[in-house]
Amino acid sequence: MFRPALWKGKRACVLGLGKSGRAVALLLQRHGFEVLISEGSAVPPPSLPGITVETGGHSAAVFDCDFWVKSPGIFPRSPVLLEAKKRGIPVFSELEVAVALMPKKIRIFAVTGTNGKTTTTALLGEILKEDATVLGGHRKVHVCGNIGKPISLCVDEVREGDDVVLEVSSYQLEDSTYFRPGYACLLNVTPDHLDHHGGMKNYIKAKNRIFKFQRACDTLVLNGADLVCAEAAEKTKSQVFAFSTHPKHLLKTDVFFDGDELIFSQGHQLRPPHLKGIHNVENAMAAALMALAAGVSAETVQKVFDQFKAMEHRIEQFAYHRGVIYVNDSKATNLDSTVTALKSFEAAHQIWLILGGRDKGASYEVLLPYLEGRCKRVLTIGECMDKIERELGKFPVVRCGTLECAVQRAMDGAVRGDVVLLSPACASFDQFKDYEERGRIFKRLVDARIFKERVEK
Ligand code: ADP
Repeated sequence: MFRPALWKGKRACVLGLGKSGRAVALLLQRHGFEVLISEGSAVPPPSLPGITVETGGHSAAVFDCDFWVKSPGIFPRSPVLLEAKKRGIPVFSELEVAVALMPKKIRIFAVTGTNGKTTTTALLGEILKEDATVLGGHRKVHVCGNIGKPISLCVDEVREGDDVVLEVSSYQLEDSTYFRPGYACLLNVTPDHLDHHGGMKNYIKAKNRIFKFQRACDTLVLNGADLVCAEAAEKTKSQVFAFSTHPKHLLKTDVFFDGDELIFSQGHQLRPPHLKGIHNVENAMAAALMALAAGVSAETVQKVFDQFKAMEHRIEQFAYHRGVIYVNDSKATNLDSTVTALKSFEAAHQIWLILGGRDKGASYEVLLPYLEGRCKRVLTIGECMDKIERELGKFPVVRCGTLECAVQRAMDGAVRGDVVLLSPACASFDQFKDYEERGRIFKRLVDARIFKERVEK
């Protein structure tokens, strides 16, 4: 556990110069620590007054530091990290250091899972903000973590009595020696980031850290139809609330969906937000269970559900042209989220699916049952085109290479009633800065061609 008082004045090594690494380094410096940032890749070192920065490799100085803080992106089996652990240097996560430096009397809400984290976190954040407005007073709600602002950047704004809503990834959890949110949620666990964690077992272990240190008075919201969540319910000490939209579930659920409304065992009935797909009903159930457990009224939850809009890059229908629907699901960076997207369209629509990017280790074969009869063509882009073609076997695949080419081919072929869907099931880093850039370029390419066709008409 990172106890700031115990480490006061000591030397900290922050491993990794990403957004979170930089933020936690500045935070530690503000709290009186001597800080060294060590970055493996040869990026130009930024000028951070009072902080020593080394890039392009790790010097021996890193081992002279008293403790390390690992940025979420650092590979858990990187040699320098293993060496530090061998030497007995304590390694903490950015997440736990940031939380340890926040005031004690706050409520922490943490959302994790393979898919749905951002949507659920955003919904919950909005609900708690509305609740704070309705109740009046000084309570503020801070929404941070993977959703945008690094947790370390929020710390100085948090005051006693505030709520902190965190979207937490498995990368942030894997090296957390202690993290105890009062309200936690594990949405689902399916294969993802297997290359980073070194297999499913480690991935599950990382996710389970969301509730590992919770106590009997804490709340844990789980997906009642998910195997890993069912096991979590056995292991946890906290009070469990489960949700499911599946008729067959493994846990006794506290809310179900009658096709129209969410029916809670406590007696509330709520209309879900106007978002596409049954997965979003689940995200809404999870956010509502957390909020209700924290004492928010059903009326407040309903008000936010009614106002909540679809989020960019998440099954985002952004254009309609000559009877063809264009959907940006660039945030689908794993196979399960692509399956979710494919399932969210009615059978009448035929899909042109743009797939590919940087591979994450799982097999594309799982897509086949959702492609047969539903998808006209798969258009491949990025590094892993060969693997996709191999694993999809006889399914018609058009090798495109670039997003530009894929958009062109899809728009050449799509007819009235079709859907052109970017839901790549892969990371974006081989061709783009991040999934957001990939999604925006996709939308720009489609919009530009629609504009051209309209002008030429
Ligand atoms: P995350 O932050 O975990 O990546 P998002 O809320 O950003 O999740 O959603 C990303 C994509 O994941 C969506 O576009 C959708 O395809 C899929 N998805 C969202 N919620 C769920 C869910 N509850 N179950 C399965 N897939 C989901």
